[in-house]
Amino acid sequence: MRAFTCSTCARLAPFEALVCLHCDTSLAFDWDSRTLVPLADPCGNRVDLGCNGQAPEGWCPSCLLTRRRSEAPAVRDRLSRAEQAKRRLVFSLLELGLPVRSWREGGLGFDFLDSTSSPVTTGHADGIITLDLAEADSVHREQTRVHLDEAYRTVLGHLRHEVGHYYDGVLVRDRSAYRALFGDETASYTDALERHYENGPPTGWVTSSVSGYATMHPYEDFAETFAHYLHLRDTLQTASSWGVSVAGPEAADQAPLASFPVLASDDLRGLIDTWLPLTYALNALNRSMGEDDLYPFVLTPPVLDKLAFVHDLV
Ligand SMILES: [Zn+2]
Ligand SMILES: [Zn+2]
Ligand SMILES: [Zn+2]
Repeated sequence: MRAFTCSTCARLAPFEALVCLHCDTSLAFDWDSRTLVPLADPCGNRVDLGCNGQAPEGWCPSCLLTRRRSEAPAVRDRLSRAEQAKRRLVFSLLELGLPVRSWREGGLGFDFLDSTSSPVTTGHADGIITLDLAEADSVHREQTRVHLDEAYRTVLGHLRHEVGHYYDGVLVRDRSAYRALFGDETASYTDALERHYENGPPTGWVTSSVSGYATMHPYEDFAETFAHYLHLRDTLQTASSWGVSVAGPEAADQAPLASFPVLASDDLRGLIDTWLPLTYALNALNRSMGEDDLYPFVLTPPVLDKLAFVHDLV
């Protein structure tokens, strides 16, 4: 994410800002220039869901990607959080130059649905990403995370994973290179799912995959890797935009722990070299606040090879 300022007073304003806290200007996020500007055309979701998108067509480009949604007042807060995560996702996709074609033209769409009224399965099919809005409830999400023994679970993470399935279909041309890294994606998904929920991930999964869930099926491995790539790119962009750099310390027998986050690099290694020292510092900062690690992941050589495949695709 970029670090934004109010276009009127030049003070700091976050991506989500509806109003400048310093000069009271009503702000909107302009999707064409991807900057914060004075509000002219409010998005239809501004009042109810807090969307700050500028919307010459009545709804902003991010909200237009929502195909179906629960209108129940009881889940409005959750819907608002889901839309907020989607705006961040769409911003990243556009910043990376990825194609974002709407479901109206056979592309990407979102169904944000309430599982308290009927069953909802979070997932992706033919460009449509379904999210169970219960995932936007922090108590439910944390219980699920502990139950499934996951290191990380967020709404944004879900959306990044599911959009990974979408780009698997849209971007991957070289299936033999894909299979060499992730495995044969034509293997039965139903069998893989059954096996995963019966036995869990194989021991030692951490050496080959970025998460336990990634071991379930090649499609899931790709989606988990893609989500991870978006974590990395967005966080590096944020660090770079804020001028965050890590100056050390020097450590014996280890790569330098100093890092000046870069926005882009031709090869993945260039990103990783600036990424790892930053994650060490971020984890140490979180622990100082009594929190768990911000970045609870290990990037082994096989995982880096998979990330490099995604990097080349993007
Ligand atoms: Zn201002
Ligand atoms: Zn909107
Ligand atoms: Zn998946």
